[in-house]
Amino acid sequence: MTERQLSNERVVWLNGEIVPESQATVHIHDRGFLYGDAVFDTARTFGGRIYRLQEHIDRLMRSLRYLRIDPGMSAEEIARVSEEVVERNRHLLGEHEDYWVFQRITRGSAFPDGPGQRSGPTVIVLCVPLPFGVRAPLFRDGIEVVIPSTRRVAPDAVSPNAKTHNYLNFVVAAQEVGAGGGWPVLLDHRGFLCEGNGSNIFLVRDGVVMTPQEQFVLAGISRKVVMELCEKLGIPCRETDLTAYDVATADEAFITSTSLCMCPVRSFDGESTAVTDIPGPVTKRLMDAYAEEVGHDFVGQYLAHLTDDAKGGTGL
Ligand code: PMP
Repeated sequence: MTERQLSNERVVWLNGEIVPESQATVHIHDRGFLYGDAVFDTARTFGGRIYRLQEHIDRLMRSLRYLRIDPGMSAEEIARVSEEVVERNRHLLGEHEDYWVFQRITRGSAFPDGPGQRSGPTVIVLCVPLPFGVRAPLFRDGIEVVIPSTRRVAPDAVSPNAKTHNYLNFVVAAQEVGAGGGWPVLLDHRGFLCEGNGSNIFLVRDGVVMTPQEQFVLAGISRKVVMELCEKLGIPCRETDLTAYDVATADEAFITSTSLCMCPVRSFDGESTAVTDIPGPVTKRLMDAYAEEVGHDFVGQYLAHLTDDAKGGTGL
């Protein structure tokens, strides 16, 4: 890489060009902006290297197929661009930092034949530092889950399996819970536990790990990592409908997401789980195995960012 390419501002890939983030703009007629007519995916780096990029790109391609958007690029090209964006921004990472890596693809302009409009999709690949500081207390204290009245969108309305730009369902839930009011985990349209803002939920009871079925949630890559680790460690893991009874009788619970990896839950609607150690024994065993799997002490990384006044963030 030459001197000229090393910018002191992050750069993004926008429709085939690398541009400084401050100059990367999307048109007012873009359907991603007008209608949420777009898909995205989000990977993260560990020690500067993107984890399971191929699985994120595969999910992105499935989301695109669901919305019938042609990205005009192959999965391999999107993966290559994702690596390039991280490479070009790597020198801007601070100590104990890592990147969130986003691919975003919209259907493009609502008026592709209009003056100054481009035809075809809008393709963006960018990275931003993970929010370690704001989320560090979650690893010290555990997540306070709140179950709002707002339900997760039903699979026969918009499939939760696709990662689309329409997160209003989660935004409304987060607004309902209020700033600083805990981490929303929504019920599905039938009233069973579903998923959180950008995260999947797991309960542990009598040594059995349980999580909602895939047809009602986004199939998280970190959710899959946990299921693989359960298999490897001989911990029973079930995909099943989870009721208010299951929540009330859970010994432990945890959240998974690309950014958090695994984070213990302390309480649901203000009531502590039966095991009050953070993390509980099964959660801890899985978190240790997760760190080994990704080759990175993600808990230590979060805790390195802990400050005296940090309060803990919510999903969105
Ligand atoms: N559910 C939703 C709705 C999400 O947006 C995410 C974040 N991608 C997840 C679950 C967790 O998925 P992953 O483990 O792949 O980050």
